[in-house]
Amino acid sequence: MQNPDILNSFPRVRLMNGPTPIQRLDRLEELLGEERNGVSIWAKRDDFMALGGGGNKLRKLEFLLGQARAEGCDTVIAIGGVQSNFARLAAAACAKTGLACELVLAQMVPRSSDIYQSNGNVLLDRLFGARVHLLSEGQDAATFASNRADEIASSGSRAFIAVLGGSTPSGCLGYVDCAFEIASQSGEIGIEFDRIVMPNGSGGMHAGLAAGFAIIGTALSRLTAYTVLASQPSALEATTDKTNAVLGLMGGDIRIRPHDLRIDGSELGGGYGIPTETMIEAVRVIGRSEGLLVDPVYGGKALAGMLAAIRSGSIPRGSHVLFIMTGGSPGLYAYQDTF
Ligand SMILES: *Cc1c(COP(=O)(O)O)cnc(C)c1O
Repeated sequence: MQNPDILNSFPRVRLMNGPTPIQRLDRLEELLGEERNGVSIWAKRDDFMALGGGGNKLRKLEFLLGQARAEGCDTVIAIGGVQSNFARLAAAACAKTGLACELVLAQMVPRSSDIYQSNGNVLLDRLFGARVHLLSEGQDAATFASNRADEIASSGSRAFIAVLGGSTPSGCLGYVDCAFEIASQSGEIGIEFDRIVMPNGSGGMHAGLAAGFAIIGTALSRLTAYTVLASQPSALEATTDKTNAVLGLMGGDIRIRPHDLRIDGSELGGGYGIPTETMIEAVRVIGRSEGLLVDPVYGGKALAGMLAAIRSGSIPRGSHVLFIMTGGSPGLYAYQDTF
């Protein structure tokens, strides 16, 4: 295994409290009964972090805020959808780090209710002291953010723009680190995971894990992502490019091709942020069996895909499956009417 010290040369702000746990979901296994088909089900608890409610974006923010500081920025402008978990965690991380934070929230989901527009993540954004720019439909977030950065520059400050999902090559380094973490925990508990399941939104988490696995020589075919934002072909193309950009940033010669990645389009439904019946069932099943929360936009759809693959027998009997729990539970409060 190549030395994971490879990450030490990148600027980083510590926002986590060490590795997140891997736990067996034995009550979920019990509830599935015969339908479990002899598969063991585990969770990587990336929802279990102390800062800002936690979630997968905190891993990316460690490297993004590191970069912002290294570039001498005192303000972060983060872009996201209205109920962006990335925006919420950027606000919390900036509060903790002493950076000013502005959020540019675009209308990416056709939900205009007051609850959707102001509860859940948006409520927390404001509590964390961020300046929230709630855009109206059709307004372009990237243009708005770059105009704000110019205004901030003219007042003598310096802004760092954090793109949608934080999925730049440096943001993805957070999930390269997670790949190393999974490999070492898997060694400690003596379980080799045959399948690692996750959602794919902006693709940065998947790309970081794929890059990390490519570096340590674990087969990328073990990773299965369910796209929740882009169509399957465009998610595949974008995630391949992102993976190669992260590998490039780390300076090695390894590159991957699209057929190395597994991206499943079966849980996308009507599109980003639009509930599906299978998502609703999955959120309920894990809540009732384990007392755990998965979110309606990302984790719920990936969990639905994983449950379908277990029930249909498409995951071979005796396999060990690891579900990456990515957080995002504040989003549930914006979907009160769905549940
Ligand atoms: C952003 C997000 C994801 C997806 O991560 P990407 O890197 O954007 O693909 C998954 N789950 C939650 C809760 C998220 O907020």
